Amino acid sequence: MKFATKAIHAGQEPDPATGAIMTPIYQTSTYVQEAPGKHKGFEYARTQNPTRLALEKNIAALESGAYGYCFGSGMAAIDAVAKLLNPGDEVVATNDLYGGSYRMFTKVFERYGIKFHFNNLSNAGNVTKYLNEKTRMLWVESPTNPMLHIIDIAAMKQAIAGRDILLCVDNTFATPYLQRPLEMGADIVVHSATKYLGGHSDVVLGAAVCNDPAIAEQIKFIQNSCGAVCGPHDAFLVLRGIKTLHVRMDRHCENAGKIANFLEKHPKVGHVYYPGLPNHPNHQIATKQMSQFGGMISFSLKGDRFEDALSVLTHTHLFSLAESLGGVESLIGHPASMTHASIPGEERAKSGITDSLIRLSVGIEDVDDLIKDLDKALEAV
Ligand code: PLP
Repeated sequence: MKFATKAIHAGQEPDPATGAIMTPIYQTSTYVQEAPGKHKGFEYARTQNPTRLALEKNIAALESGAYGYCFGSGMAAIDAVAKLLNPGDEVVATNDLYGGSYRMFTKVFERYGIKFHFNNLSNAGNVTKYLNEKTRMLWVESPTNPMLHIIDIAAMKQAIAGRDILLCVDNTFATPYLQRPLEMGADIVVHSATKYLGGHSDVVLGAAVCNDPAIAEQIKFIQNSCGAVCGPHDAFLVLRGIKTLHVRMDRHCENAGKIANFLEKHPKVGHVYYPGLPNHPNHQIATKQMSQFGGMISFSLKGDRFEDALSVLTHTHLFSLAESLGGVESLIGHPASMTHASIPGEERAKSGITDSLIRLSVGIEDVDDLIKDLDKALEAV
C-alpha cells in the first residue's frame, strides 16, 4: 500500500458494532467483561482504547514501523522513550533541538543520573566525540528546530553500528510523508503529532514508533505504568488530520520553497535557513533522505537587531505570532524568546539562535498572499 492510501486506511476498519466508516470516539474508561479476564481485548482505557489503537496502528504504518504508541503530548512520548534509560547511562543529542526536549533532558532526566552531551550532529563525524561505553542513546532531530540543520540518519546509524545504543529520531518537522527514519536504521521515531500530523492546531498529542518487539514491550509497559496516554477525542482528531497529511505537506513544501526564494533575495534579510535551498550546507543530505524539504524556514535580519525582528513579528497579519507549527495556517515566531527561551543564552548562541532569528511555519494559504504579508512586514524594518 502506498503512503496516501495508508494515511486514509491503515489501522481503520469500519466500526464492528455499527459499521461507522470513521473510527468512533470511544469515550469510556472501562469495558464490561463476560467473566474475570474474559473480554474483547479492552480492559481499562489507560491500557487500551479502540480510538487510540486505530491511531497507533495508523502512525506505525506510516512510519514503516510495527508498533506505535500514542501519548498525551509530544513531550510525553519523548518522556516515555527517555525512560528506557537507566541511571549512569549517557545520551548524545543534537545541540539544536526543541527547547522543551532540552529542558526535559537537562532539568528532569539529569536529576535521575543520566548524562546528556549536546553536539552539532549535522557534521556526522562529531557523533563519535562523546560516544563511550556508557552511551545508550543517540537523540536526533532532523530537520533541527529552529536552525533547520539536516542530520544524516543513515550516517548516525553507521557511527553506532555494533554498539548497544538506540538511535531515536524526532521526526516532527519532516513527518513520515517526507522522511521515514526507521527505514534508515533508526530504532525509535517520536512525534509531536500536535504539529503536521494533527495539522489543524486543535490538539496536543505525541507518538512513538518502533520495530523491535522488545523495545515495543518496554514502551508499552511505560505507557501503561506511567499513564501519559492521549484521550480518545484527541486520537480521533489526529486520525482525521492524518487523512490529508500528504496533500497538506505537498502545499506546505511548495509554499515554503517559494517563500525561501523570496527571502533570499530580500535586501533586509541576513541569512535564510531552508534545506531546500541549494546553498544550504546540508542540502545534499536533505535530498538523499527527504522526499521534499518541509514547511519550516528560519531567517535572520541584516544587522541582527532584536528590535528589527520585533518589528517584523508584530507587522505580519497572515503569519500569526504564536508558538507551535505544522497547522494549515502560517505562524511566525522568535525562537530566542519563545520556543527556545528555556535553553541558556550561551547554548543558544552556540547553535546560531541569534536575536534577529525568526522562524516561520509556512501554512497552506495562497503563497502570493503570504509573500505580500512578509514583504510588508519587512518594509516596516
Ligand atoms: N519535538 C519537536 C520537534 C517539537 O517542535 C515539539 C513542540 O514544539 C515537541 C517535540 C513537543 O511536542 P508537544 O508540544 O506536543 O509536547
